[in-house]
Parts: sequence; structure tokens; C-alpha cells
Amino acid sequence: MSGKDEQSTAAAGGFDVIVVGARCAGASLATLLARRGLSVCLVDKAAPSEDTPSTHIFEADALAFLDELGVLDELRGLGAPLVARADARVGDVRWPVTWPVRPGDPGGVMSVRRFRLDPVLARAAQAAGATLLTETAVTDVLRAPDGRVEGVRLAQGGGARRTERELRARLVVGADGRGSTVARACGARAYHVSPNRFALFWGYFAHARIGEPTFTFHRWADRVVLGCPTDDGLYQVQVGVDPARVREFRAGLPGSLLEYARSCPPVAETLRGAEPVGEPGAVTHWKGCFREASGPGWVLVGDAGHFKDPTAGRGIGDAFLQAGSLAEVLAGHLPVDGDDTGGGDASARRLDAALASWGAWRDREFAEPYWFAVDIGSLDPLPSVLPEVLRGMRRAGTADRLFDLVNHRARPSDVLTGPRVLGAVARLLARGRFGVLREAADVARLARERRALERRPRYEADRARDRQRGPAGSR
Ligand SMILES: Cc1cc2nc3c(=O)[nH]c(=O)nc-3n(C[C@H](O)[C@H](O)[C@H](O)COP(=O)(O)OP(=O)(O)OC[C@H]3O[C@@H](n4cnc5c(N)ncnc54)[C@H](O)[C@@H]3O)c2cc1C
Repeated sequence: MSGKDEQSTAAAGGFDVIVVGARCAGASLATLLARRGLSVCLVDKAAPSEDTPSTHIFEADALAFLDELGVLDELRGLGAPLVARADARVGDVRWPVTWPVRPGDPGGVMSVRRFRLDPVLARAAQAAGATLLTETAVTDVLRAPDGRVEGVRLAQGGGARRTERELRARLVVGADGRGSTVARACGARAYHVSPNRFALFWGYFAHARIGEPTFTFHRWADRVVLGCPTDDGLYQVQVGVDPARVREFRAGLPGSLLEYARSCPPVAETLRGAEPVGEPGAVTHWKGCFREASGPGWVLVGDAGHFKDPTAGRGIGDAFLQAGSLAEVLAGHLPVDGDDTGGGDASARRLDAALASWGAWRDREFAEPYWFAVDIGSLDPLPSVLPEVLRGMRRAGTADRLFDLVNHRARPSDVLTGPRVLGAVARLLARGRFGVLREAADVARLARERRALERRPRYEADRARDRQRGPAGSR
């Protein structure tokens, strides 16, 4: 759709849906909605092909989604291989992984830099008929007299060239990332908030000895190193750094990154003779959280509604999963061409209720993986029971199933089952490792606390208020 079409759509009463944010969550949702005949405006403050600070490893479920969206061949054309193998290490347990896939899956793992992946998604949305506005920031939402969100305020250009205008729609979707403007404007409260416990640094290398494409994931002692072939024949390396060492690590770049990466033997071997390409990337602060998913006339998808520690490599796949399921809900509740058979207010209420149910599904679906991401996103010593469970699974030939967690096809509780954990505890006790009892008690207590939080979330605003008041009894 051209700019003229945008004006005529706006003049005719607005779009069916405005999607704010044109990357993994927003562009794929816009594509799915436009293909169903809805009029969609996709808005992003970034320029086309602008990068975003994120690494970009995604897994089997995401590959299946991209294939269905019809963009996988284009991504493969960028020189990113499909990776079928992993070299995994957790504590002192290391094993070669055949990545778990289902029949019909195009592959196990892929990595495509974001300034190449995201434009492919945005172009798919345009090809499906969505209007794409880039370098256009949403500054606020518009509300009807009853408070219902009914559009957005847009700003383009800066200084004397800045222009502002309004755009209306039946629904506003915030797909605008972890610092979401839509979430803030709609008053969506954050819960399960957890600050990062290490900083992430990453870099790219040319002429690496990639051989058979392999995803390396090594987490041992106080270290985590990930390595994966990415697009253009490059090799991507990512490490977790203790926040107390960030300043020193940054000052030592790129040598500090290389030195850390080389402490992981398979990555060291791959990097023999390789040359760094570009400046290393870093993100040193973030907060994982869920946000209230929806309200009258608005909904959040992707990182805008739920951000988790990136070490689990699940942000992109989860954004696709959410976009896919949200598209189904919206297709059922936003009649094409405003063909509103149920009456305006009644159908708006039905839409709001459907979005609230979708939000409840999101929380159920992603709570366990979220806590798992919190746990692996830390350089704290691993509980000894975890490598012992994996040793048991290796003996049984089921250790590769661990990676179904990052395919979002198994939950942590499907892998770390009661019998497996009890078996591991018993084996450790038989070896005189009595400290495992305390560890097991701590893990069980944490699990109980988290279940309680899921039933009764603690909102960030409440926590801030409690902090201001000081400890109970001090008033
Ligand atoms: C350091 C790091 C490493 C990561 N590594 C991985 C990984 O290896 N694998 C993985 O799966 N995930 C990873 N993630 C997570 C992943 O980046 C996100 O989950 C994913 O980008 C979510 O996509 P999204 O579309 O929801 O949001 P985003 O990709 O953040 O896109 C949001 C878009 O909204 C736009 N926007 C924001 N505000 C406005 C506004 N006011 N008006 C208009 N537009 C706006 C932005 O310009 C942006 O283009 C990582 C994240 C970080 C921080």
C-alpha cells in the first residue's frame, strides 16, 4: 500500500489494526493479518535495515514458522546454514547433540543478523498488503471518551522538520520491544521482574573453521560461551560477563572477548586463524518481565509484553509463537472490512475478552520457560543435581531432549522430572555428596515461591511503592 492508500484508509475511518514495531513480533503479525484481508498499518521508528542490539539464534519451531510464512528460502539465500548439531556442555558433562526436530521441520537452528532478518519480515508484511511506515515514532495512544484506545499519535523527522499526526484503528498492537511506548501509554504493569545477572558481549569472525555447522553451548564454572555460524559465512560468538567485570572487559575489547571465547575449546578451534569483523556488541543491563497483555483496544506482543534473559535464545521464537496465536484470535474477532455483525460495543467487548484470554494463555505458556531463562542467565555455580540429571539422561540416550526446551517443545518440568531429579539426588548421596540435600531444598523452595507468584503476580509499581515505604515495621 502506498502513502496515498494510507491517507485514503485513514480518511475512511482508519485501519483495522495498527502494529507498532516492525521486527520479529510486529512484522510477522502484520503479515498474517494482512493475508487474512485486514487493513494493517505497520509503524517503526527505525529506518529499514537498521540493526538492533540483539544476537539472533533461533530454533526448530521458529524455522517451521518462517517456512510457513514463506521467507525461509530468502533467509537461506543470505548464507546462513541450517544447523543440525550442537556441542553441549553443562558443568562437567559434555556431549555431541543431534538437534531434536519433528518430521517436516526444515532444520534445527539458524542464526541471521538482525539487520538482515528483520527487513525480510517487514517486506513480507508489505507484500501481504500491510502499509509500512518507517522512521515514524509512536509517541502516544489516542483514547475515546470512554478510555478505549482507538489509535496512535505519530511523529516523523526531528527539529524544525518534525511533523505529527494521528492514525486511528480498531486495535493498536504494541510490538515495540522491551522499552515499549505502547505499554507505557496504556499503563500496562510489569510483573515477575528480574534484572539481568550477567552482561552479554558478542562478536563476528570471518574465515572461521566452521566445518560441519554446529551450535556450541558451553556453561561451566562461572562461564557461558555460545558459538554459531551465521549469515554471510561468518561465525558468531557470545559470552556472559560478570557485571562487576564489565568496565574492565569493555576496556579490553576486542581482545577480552577473544580470550574469553577461547576458553571454550571447540570455539577456540573454530576461531583458529579467524579475523574479527566489525565492533563487538554488548548489552549490559536489562530486566526480564511480563507485562499486562491487553486492555480495551490494545494488546502487547513479543518483547513488549514479555522479555526474558537472552541466554535461552528464545526471544525470536517466542515472538513468532505469540504472533501466530494472536493472529488466530484477531482473525476470529476483527471482521474484515468492519463487517461488524454483532454491534459495535458488544463486538469490542468480545474482542477485549478474547485478548484477555490470550494474555492468560501467554502467561501460562511462557512462565516455566521464563524462570528457566532466569536460572541459566546467571553465572552462579550450577546446582550439582543438574549435571547429574544430564549424566543420567546421557546414559539413557535422552540428553538431546534438553534442547527441546529451546525449541519450546518441552517444559523444564518435562525434562527435569521428579524421578530424574530424585535419581540424581540418590546417586549423589551414595557418593557422599550430602550438600545436595540443601540444594534440592533450595530448588524446591524457589519453585514454590514462583508458583505462588504466578497465582498472584507482584507488580513492579507495588514493589517500588514498598521500597519507598521501607521495611515493614520501620514506619
Ligand atoms: C543482547 C540480546 C541478545 C539476544 N539474543 C537472542 C538470541 O540469540 N535469540 C533469540 O531468539 N532472541 C534473542 N534476544 C531476544 C530478541 O532480540 C527479542 O526477543 C526479539 O527481538 C523480540 O522481537 P520484537 O519484535 O518483540 O521486538 P524488537 O526486536 O525489539 O522490535 C521492536 C521494534 O519496535 C520499534 N519501536 C520501539 N518503540 C517504538 C515507537 N515508539 N514507535 C515506533 N516504533 C518503535 C523499534 O524500533 C524496533 O524495531 C536477544 C536480546 C538481547 C537484548
